[in-house]
Amino acid sequence: MPEGDTVHHAANRMRPVLEGRVPDEIAAPQPRHALDRWPQRLAGRAVRAVEAHGKHLFLRFEGDLTLHSHLRMTGVWATYERGRRWGRSPRRAWLVLRAGEHEVVQFDGPVLELMTESRTRFDRRLAALGPDLLAPDFDARAFLRRLREDDPTRGFGDALLDQRTVAGIGNLWKAEACWEAGVDPWRPSGEVSDSEAVAVLEAVRPRMLESARTGHGTRDVRVYDRAGRPCPRCGAPIRARGQGDSNRMTFWCPSCQR
Ligand SMILES: [Zn+2]
Repeated sequence: MPEGDTVHHAANRMRPVLEGRVPDEIAAPQPRHALDRWPQRLAGRAVRAVEAHGKHLFLRFEGDLTLHSHLRMTGVWATYERGRRWGRSPRRAWLVLRAGEHEVVQFDGPVLELMTESRTRFDRRLAALGPDLLAPDFDARAFLRRLREDDPTRGFGDALLDQRTVAGIGNLWKAEACWEAGVDPWRPSGEVSDSEAVAVLEAVRPRMLESARTGHGTRDVRVYDRAGRPCPRCGAPIRARGQGDSNRMTFWCPSCQR
Protein backbone atom coordinates (compact mmCIF):
# COMPACT_ATOMS: atom_id res chain seq x y z
CA MET A 1 0.00 0.00 0.00
CA PRO A 2 1.43 3.43 -0.94
CA GLU A 3 2.67 5.41 2.05
CA GLY A 4 4.08 8.94 2.20
CA ASP A 5 7.47 7.99 0.76
CA THR A 6 5.84 6.42 -2.32
CA VAL A 7 3.73 9.51 -2.96
CA HIS A 8 6.70 11.85 -2.45
CA HIS A 9 8.74 9.70 -4.84
CA ALA A 10 5.99 9.94 -7.47
CA ALA A 11 5.90 13.73 -7.02
CA ASN A 12 9.70 13.94 -7.29
CA ARG A 13 9.58 12.01 -10.58
CA MET A 14 6.86 14.13 -12.18
CA ARG A 15 8.02 17.53 -10.92
CA PRO A 16 10.81 18.08 -13.49
CA VAL A 17 8.49 16.88 -16.26
CA LEU A 18 5.47 19.01 -15.41
CA GLU A 19 6.36 21.95 -13.21
CA GLY A 20 6.32 25.28 -14.98
CA ARG A 21 5.03 23.93 -18.27
CA VAL A 22 1.77 23.51 -20.14
CA PRO A 23 1.20 19.80 -20.88
CA ASP A 24 1.09 19.08 -24.61
CA GLU A 25 -1.89 16.83 -24.09
CA ILE A 26 -4.15 15.73 -21.26
CA ALA A 27 -6.40 12.68 -21.47
CA ALA A 28 -8.83 11.34 -18.90
CA PRO A 29 -9.80 7.90 -20.24
CA GLN A 30 -11.63 6.63 -17.14
CA PRO A 31 -15.34 6.51 -18.13
CA ARG A 32 -16.49 7.68 -14.70
CA HIS A 33 -14.88 11.08 -15.42
CA ALA A 34 -16.02 11.36 -19.05
CA LEU A 35 -18.46 14.17 -18.22
CA ASP A 36 -16.04 16.14 -16.04
CA ARG A 37 -14.24 17.58 -19.10
CA TRP A 38 -10.87 17.71 -17.36
CA PRO A 39 -8.88 17.94 -20.65
CA GLN A 40 -10.94 20.95 -21.76
CA ARG A 41 -10.83 22.67 -18.36
CA LEU A 42 -7.07 22.21 -18.01
CA ALA A 43 -6.14 22.94 -21.64
CA GLY A 44 -3.49 25.63 -22.04
CA ARG A 45 -2.81 25.90 -18.30
CA ALA A 46 0.69 25.43 -16.91
CA VAL A 47 1.33 23.20 -13.91
CA ARG A 48 2.42 25.66 -11.21
CA ALA A 49 3.49 23.07 -8.66
CA VAL A 50 3.53 19.36 -7.88
CA GLU A 51 3.11 18.85 -4.15
CA ALA A 52 2.87 15.88 -1.82
CA HIS A 53 1.50 16.03 1.71
CA GLY A 54 1.49 12.68 3.50
CA LYS A 55 -0.29 10.29 1.15
CA HIS A 56 -1.99 13.07 -0.83
CA LEU A 57 -0.69 14.48 -4.09
CA PHE A 58 -1.66 17.82 -5.61
CA LEU A 59 -1.10 19.07 -9.16
CA ARG A 60 -1.64 22.81 -8.98
CA PHE A 61 -2.52 24.40 -12.31
CA GLU A 62 -2.70 28.03 -13.33
CA GLY A 63 -6.15 29.52 -12.97
CA ASP A 64 -6.96 28.26 -9.48
CA LEU A 65 -7.43 24.59 -10.39
CA THR A 66 -5.89 21.69 -8.47
CA LEU A 67 -5.97 17.98 -9.20
CA HIS A 68 -6.07 16.12 -5.91
CA SER A 69 -5.14 12.44 -5.73
CA HIS A 70 -5.08 9.77 -3.04
CA LEU A 71 -3.95 6.28 -4.02
CA ARG A 72 -5.54 4.28 -1.17
CA MET A 73 -4.56 0.58 -1.66
CA THR A 74 -4.68 0.36 -5.44
CA GLY A 75 -3.65 3.53 -7.25
CA VAL A 76 -0.27 4.48 -8.67
CA TRP A 77 1.39 7.42 -10.41
CA ALA A 78 4.10 6.67 -12.95
CA THR A 79 6.35 8.77 -15.17
CA TYR A 80 7.56 7.22 -18.43
CA GLU A 81 9.66 8.28 -21.34
CA ARG A 82 7.28 8.66 -24.22
CA GLY A 83 6.87 5.45 -26.19
CA ARG A 84 7.96 3.23 -23.29
CA ARG A 85 5.64 0.39 -22.33
CA TRP A 86 3.49 1.26 -19.32
CA GLY A 87 3.59 -0.79 -16.12
CA ARG A 88 -0.18 -1.31 -16.12
CA SER A 89 -2.77 -1.74 -18.84
CA PRO A 90 -3.82 1.49 -20.61
CA ARG A 91 -7.40 0.50 -19.75
CA ARG A 92 -6.52 1.21 -16.11
CA ALA A 93 -5.28 4.75 -16.79
CA TRP A 94 -7.40 7.49 -15.22
CA LEU A 95 -5.25 10.40 -16.33
CA VAL A 96 -2.46 10.90 -18.85
CA LEU A 97 -0.39 14.09 -19.09
CA ARG A 98 2.04 14.29 -21.99
CA ALA A 99 4.84 16.86 -21.79
CA GLY A 100 7.89 16.88 -24.03
CA GLU A 101 9.51 13.46 -24.02
CA HIS A 102 7.54 12.17 -21.03
CA GLU A 103 4.17 10.82 -20.05
CA VAL A 104 2.81 11.03 -16.52
CA VAL A 105 0.07 8.46 -15.91
CA GLN A 106 -2.28 7.91 -13.01
CA PHE A 107 -3.61 4.33 -12.86
CA ASP A 108 -6.58 2.96 -10.93
CA GLY A 109 -7.57 6.16 -9.09
CA PRO A 110 -9.29 5.65 -6.80
CA VAL A 111 -9.47 9.24 -5.52
CA LEU A 112 -8.87 11.76 -8.27
CA GLU A 113 -10.70 15.05 -8.33
CA LEU A 114 -10.35 18.47 -9.90
CA MET A 115 -11.00 21.20 -7.35
CA THR A 116 -10.62 24.94 -7.09
CA GLU A 117 -7.78 26.16 -4.90
CA SER A 118 -10.23 27.56 -2.36
CA ARG A 119 -12.12 24.29 -2.10
CA THR A 120 -8.85 22.50 -1.50
CA ARG A 121 -8.14 24.89 1.33
CA PHE A 122 -11.50 24.43 3.00
CA ASP A 123 -11.93 20.72 2.35
CA ARG A 124 -12.31 19.17 5.81
CA ARG A 125 -10.29 16.04 5.05
CA LEU A 126 -7.37 18.06 3.75
CA ALA A 127 -7.50 20.84 6.34
CA ALA A 128 -7.38 18.23 9.10
CA LEU A 129 -4.16 16.59 7.88
CA GLY A 130 -1.37 16.46 10.42
CA PRO A 131 2.20 17.64 9.72
CA ASP A 132 3.89 15.80 6.87
CA LEU A 133 6.70 13.62 8.20
CA LEU A 134 8.60 14.03 4.93
CA ALA A 135 8.36 17.82 4.77
CA PRO A 136 11.82 19.46 4.95
CA ASP A 137 10.72 21.24 8.14
CA PHE A 138 8.69 18.48 9.85
CA ASP A 139 6.77 20.10 12.72
CA ALA A 140 7.32 17.75 15.69
CA ARG A 141 5.51 20.09 18.06
CA ALA A 142 2.36 20.02 15.93
CA PHE A 143 2.63 16.22 15.88
CA LEU A 144 2.83 16.05 19.70
CA ARG A 145 -0.05 18.50 20.12
CA ARG A 146 -2.25 16.36 17.89
CA LEU A 147 -1.11 13.11 19.50
CA ARG A 148 -2.10 14.46 22.92
CA GLU A 149 -5.51 15.57 21.61
CA ASP A 150 -6.18 11.96 20.57
CA ASP A 151 -7.48 9.23 22.89
CA PRO A 152 -4.59 8.43 25.31
CA THR A 153 -5.76 4.82 25.66
CA ARG A 154 -5.31 4.17 21.97
CA GLY A 155 -2.37 1.89 21.13
CA PHE A 156 0.59 4.00 20.07
CA GLY A 157 1.09 2.06 16.82
CA ASP A 158 -2.54 2.61 15.88
CA ALA A 159 -2.33 6.32 16.78
CA LEU A 160 0.55 6.74 14.34
CA LEU A 161 -1.70 5.64 11.47
CA ASP A 162 -4.08 8.55 12.08
CA GLN A 163 -3.30 11.02 9.28
CA ARG A 164 -4.69 13.85 11.45
CA THR A 165 -1.83 13.24 13.89
CA VAL A 166 1.03 12.78 11.43
CA ALA A 167 0.64 12.52 7.65
CA GLY A 168 2.49 9.93 5.62
CA ILE A 169 2.84 6.92 7.95
CA GLY A 170 1.15 3.71 6.82
CA ASN A 171 1.17 0.20 8.17
CA LEU A 172 4.68 -0.69 7.04
CA TRP A 173 6.43 2.41 8.37
CA LYS A 174 4.41 2.27 11.59
CA ALA A 175 5.86 -1.18 12.38
CA GLU A 176 9.36 -0.24 11.26
CA ALA A 177 9.35 3.04 13.21
CA CYS A 178 8.31 1.42 16.50
CA TRP A 179 10.92 -1.30 16.04
CA GLU A 180 13.74 1.12 15.20
CA ALA A 181 13.06 3.12 18.37
CA GLY A 182 12.44 0.04 20.54
CA VAL A 183 8.91 1.15 21.46
CA ASP A 184 6.11 -1.39 21.88
CA PRO A 185 3.26 -0.42 19.48
CA TRP A 186 0.73 -1.80 22.01
CA ARG A 187 1.57 0.73 24.72
CA PRO A 188 -1.28 3.23 25.22
CA SER A 189 -0.11 6.45 23.58
CA GLY A 190 -0.70 8.30 26.88
CA GLU A 191 2.12 6.20 28.35
CA VAL A 192 4.56 7.08 25.57
CA SER A 193 6.59 10.18 26.49
CA ASP A 194 7.00 13.14 24.14
CA SER A 195 10.65 12.33 23.57
CA GLU A 196 9.88 8.66 22.84
CA ALA A 197 7.10 9.60 20.43
CA VAL A 198 9.37 11.99 18.51
CA ALA A 199 12.20 9.43 18.60
CA VAL A 200 9.95 6.86 16.90
CA LEU A 201 9.36 9.22 13.98
CA GLU A 202 12.94 10.45 13.81
CA ALA A 203 14.12 6.81 13.74
CA VAL A 204 12.30 6.07 10.52
CA ARG A 205 12.28 9.44 8.78
CA PRO A 206 15.73 8.99 7.14
CA ARG A 207 14.65 5.63 5.66
CA MET A 208 11.44 7.19 4.34
CA LEU A 209 13.33 10.16 2.85
CA GLU A 210 15.75 7.76 1.19
CA SER A 211 12.80 5.82 -0.21
CA ALA A 212 11.20 9.04 -1.48
CA ARG A 213 14.46 9.80 -3.27
CA THR A 214 15.13 6.36 -4.77
CA GLY A 215 11.76 4.61 -4.75
CA HIS A 216 13.41 1.51 -3.23
CA GLY A 217 13.36 2.13 0.49
CA THR A 218 10.87 -0.48 1.56
CA ARG A 219 12.95 -3.46 0.42
CA ASP A 220 14.99 -3.70 3.58
CA VAL A 221 12.32 -4.28 6.23
CA ARG A 222 13.17 -5.35 9.79
CA VAL A 223 9.80 -6.53 11.17
CA TYR A 224 7.01 -5.74 8.69
CA ASP A 225 5.49 -8.96 7.30
CA ARG A 226 8.18 -11.03 9.07
CA ALA A 227 6.03 -12.83 11.67
CA GLY A 228 7.83 -15.81 13.21
CA ARG A 229 11.23 -14.79 11.80
CA PRO A 230 14.02 -13.71 14.16
CA CYS A 231 14.25 -10.08 15.26
CA PRO A 232 17.35 -8.58 13.58
CA ARG A 233 18.33 -6.97 16.92
CA CYS A 234 17.76 -9.67 19.54
CA GLY A 235 16.75 -12.85 17.68
CA ALA A 236 13.35 -13.32 19.37
CA PRO A 237 10.53 -14.34 16.99
CA ILE A 238 8.60 -11.39 15.56
CA ARG A 239 4.92 -11.35 16.35
CA ALA A 240 1.92 -10.15 14.35
CA ARG A 241 -1.59 -9.19 15.42
CA GLY A 242 -4.38 -6.90 14.18
CA GLN A 243 -4.55 -3.58 16.03
CA GLY A 244 -7.05 -0.78 16.42
CA ASP A 245 -10.58 -0.26 15.14
CA SER A 246 -9.59 -1.13 11.60
CA ASN A 247 -7.62 -4.18 12.80
CA ARG A 248 -4.51 -3.30 10.79
CA MET A 249 -1.81 -5.94 11.23
CA THR A 250 1.06 -4.81 13.39
CA PHE A 251 4.46 -6.53 13.60
CA TRP A 252 6.74 -6.19 16.61
CA CYS A 253 9.40 -7.86 18.71
CA PRO A 254 7.98 -8.62 22.18
CA SER A 255 11.50 -8.97 23.56
CA CYS A 256 13.28 -5.71 22.67
CA GLN A 257 10.36 -3.32 22.12
CA ARG A 258 9.20 -1.93 25.47
ZN1 LIG B 1 14.05 -7.90 19.29
